[in-house]
Amino acid sequence: MKKAVYPGSFDPMTYGHLDIIKRASEMFDELVVSVLNNQGKTPLFSVEERVKILKEATKDIPNVRIDSFSGLLVQYAEKNDIHVAVRGLRAITDFEYELQIAQTNRKLSDGKLDTVFLTTSLEYSYLSSSVVKEIAYFDGDISQCVPDFVAKQIIEKYDKKRS
Ligand code: ADP
Repeated sequence: MKKAVYPGSFDPMTYGHLDIIKRASEMFDELVVSVLNNQGKTPLFSVEERVKILKEATKDIPNVRIDSFSGLLVQYAEKNDIHVAVRGLRAITDFEYELQIAQTNRKLSDGKLDTVFLTTSLEYSYLSSSVVKEIAYFDGDISQCVPDFVAKQIIEKYDKKRS
């Protein structure tokens, strides 16, 4: 069985992420989308909230499973017997960072964890979680960036922060 993991912060999940999830799910028997619990960052959504959003958004894709992890991806992958990581590439600016991480993971895992890159669909190439948060923070329209139920939760978060 061909398994892959798509790791990321997903804070929050955007249509860009969802596009990568859908395309990757067609390439593997099982795709585990795993939310990284990054202690170094202060996220807008807790890991549990991000997992819940991803579960709701992917509920119609049977071979997608949502999980979370902390620590090194190579350790998580080994424990779950996964040998492919999926990452998305938007622009050349993503490339340098992603190349370094992919090579590090390959080295750390003794060649057992490889990375497959999917290039962004053009309509989502501008999209990132931080852009979405910035637009929402200033009361802009994020309906093109995230599903409606996610937009609602982002707006609620900022309303709470302001009050
Ligand atoms: P991280 O904090 O690990 O970069 P993100 O949640 O920002 O996590 O992104 C996870 C992955 O999804 C990364 O590989 C990123 O390049 C990719 N990604 C994010 N937005 C898009 C998009 N609009 N199109 C394609 N890939 C994307």
